[in-house]
Amino acid sequence: MAKDPLECSFCGRKKPETNLLIAGIDAHICDRCIEQANGIVAEESKATSREDLSEELTLKKPLEIKDFLDQFVIGQDRTKKVLSVAVYNHYKRLLQTNTNDDVEIQKSNIIMVGQTGTGKTLIAKTIAKMLNVPLAIVDATVLTEAGYVGEDVESILTRLLQAADYDLEKAQRGIVFIDEIDKIARKSDNPSITRDVSGEGVQQGLLKLLEGTTVNVPPKGGRKHPDQKFIEVNTENILFIAGGAFDGIEKKISNRLNMQAVGYSASKADEGLDQENILQYIIPKDLKDFGLIPEIIGRLPVLTHMNPLDKKTLRAILTQPKNAIMKQYEKLFEMDEIALEITDEALDYLVDKALEYKLGARGLRSLCESVFTDAMFQMPSGEEKTLKVDVAYAKSKINLDTEKKLKAVS
Ligand code: ADP
Repeated sequence: MAKDPLECSFCGRKKPETNLLIAGIDAHICDRCIEQANGIVAEESKATSREDLSEELTLKKPLEIKDFLDQFVIGQDRTKKVLSVAVYNHYKRLLQTNTNDDVEIQKSNIIMVGQTGTGKTLIAKTIAKMLNVPLAIVDATVLTEAGYVGEDVESILTRLLQAADYDLEKAQRGIVFIDEIDKIARKSDNPSITRDVSGEGVQQGLLKLLEGTTVNVPPKGGRKHPDQKFIEVNTENILFIAGGAFDGIEKKISNRLNMQAVGYSASKADEGLDQENILQYIIPKDLKDFGLIPEIIGRLPVLTHMNPLDKKTLRAILTQPKNAIMKQYEKLFEMDEIALEITDEALDYLVDKALEYKLGARGLRSLCESVFTDAMFQMPSGEEKTLKVDVAYAKSKINLDTEKKLKAVS
C-alpha cells in the first residue's frame, strides 16, 4: 500500500507542508531541502576551487616576485618592491580560507605614476606572466570617448574574458591594466584637457569594478543589447593596476612640498629633495589635485611611481633583460644565420638619441627599427653572414625621417 500523504525523504515534511515535492526512484525531496543542498554544493565547490587555485598559483614570496621582475624590468626598484608585496597580498587574500574571521583583507589595487616608456605596462605584463593569469590591457581614453559610461566600462571585462579564452574562473582572478588613467581626470581641476566627454562619469563607472561587484558582461563586447546573452563576471578577485603619466603633476607635488615648508626654513625643506625626480614624493592628495575623484583614489590604495630612465638604465635596457631589445634582433638575424655585431659606441649613440627625444625605452625600439630595417630586408636574400653596426652605420640609418617621427611623438 502506498504511503499517504507523500513526504520528503530528507526532512520528513508532508507534501501539503511543501511548495514542491519531487519524486526520485525510491524517494522524494522537497523544495526547501533542494535549496539547502544547493547551498552546500556551492560552498563545497568554492572550497575546492580555492584548493585548485592554491595548487595552480604557486604563490611566490615577495622576494621571489621581485627576483622575477628583475629579469625583465631594469631599475624601478622601489616600485618593483611595492608591487611584489601588493601582488603577494592580493593572492593571499584569494587564498584566505577562514571566511568566518572578522578580518577581511581589502583589495590591493595599484596605481603607477610615471612618464611614458618607463616600464609600467611591462611590469603588469611580467606579473601576469609570472602568475600565469590572464591580462587585459585597456586604455582609459577609449572609455572617455564613447560617452556611454556604464556599458563601456564593462568592455574592460570583455577583454579580460577574451584574454582568458572565455574561462570565467580564470578571468575572475586575472589582472586588468588600465593605461592612461590620468586622461579621465576631472576637467575642472585639470585645465590642460580640453575634451572631457565625461572624465568623472567614467571614474564613477570604474569604481564598482575596482572594489568588487558582479557585472553583466557582453561576451563579444559592444553595446548592451536585449538579445545578447551576458556573462556574469565577479570582479572581487581581479587585480586592477592603473598607470598614467599625469603630465604636470610634478608641479602640484612641488607646490605641496613648498606649502609644507612654510613655517620652516624654506632652504631646509629643499635640502635633501631630489629635484630631478619629484615624482617620488607623490601622495594620494596629489592625484586628487590632478582630478581623480577621492573614491577612485581610495580604491587604488597602492600608489607608486616610476623613475625617469637615465642613460645608464636605458643602456642596460638595450642588452640586459631576458627579452632585451638587442637580444630580440640578434635572434631575428640568427634565424637567417646572420651574426649581429654592434659596437658599444653604437649602443651609446642609440641611448643618446633616445634621451634626446624623451621617449624612454620606447624611443630605443623605434631607433633600432630604423637601424636594422634595411639589413632585415636585404640580408636574408644575400650572401653576407655578418652585420656589423658601428656609430657611422647607425647614423647613416637614422635619417631625417626617423628624427621627424620621433619628434612628432615626443
Ligand atoms: P609605459 O607603460 O610606462 O609607457 P612600457 O612598459 O610600455 O612603458 O615600455 C615600453 C617598452 O620599453 C617595453 O616593452 C620595454 O621593452 C621597454 N622598457 C621600458 N621600461 C623598461 C624597464 N624599466 N626595463 C626594461 N625594459 C623597459
